[in-house]
Amino acid sequence: MNEITLQIKYTEYNGTDQLPFDDKMLIMKARDAAKKAYAPYSGFRVGASVLLENGIIITGSNQENAAYPSGICAERTALFYASSQYPKVPIIAIAVSTINISATSSDIAKPCGACRQVMAEYEDLSGKPLRIILDSTDKVVIVIGMDSLLPLRFKKEDLK
Ligand SMILES: [Zn+2]
Repeated sequence: MNEITLQIKYTEYNGTDQLPFDDKMLIMKARDAAKKAYAPYSGFRVGASVLLENGIIITGSNQENAAYPSGICAERTALFYASSQYPKVPIIAIAVSTINISATSSDIAKPCGACRQVMAEYEDLSGKPLRIILDSTDKVVIVIGMDSLLPLRFKKEDLK
């Protein structure tokens, strides 16, 4: 028997002041996208912005539905649109912001498991660690690479 311990790594910032320009811009776009969410059931509005290697930024927001499972998260709205419009263009960064009208905490945005799985596959396709920017009102977390957000993940190679 071997007991194995995995470590995850991220960097926490107090606000956006110390962030590079690209990160600040992605956060602004994700915050703006969150305002456009269709979230009448949860009241939890999420925005995502995706930076492609060609410099184009795609945004998305969560889209809910009365048939709950038919809705989709902001991250996947943006990622799938990016890949649909610009297939084979590497996705190099994603920022996620939330507006939770009923919450009292200002915790960072945290992608769900399904979105992490999708982010990881686009990272694999790009061949480079994805830059993940998780926003909140008073701090920002930067994660480099999906190994820190979804270790031991299912990969397309597992289908063989
Ligand atoms: Zn999600």
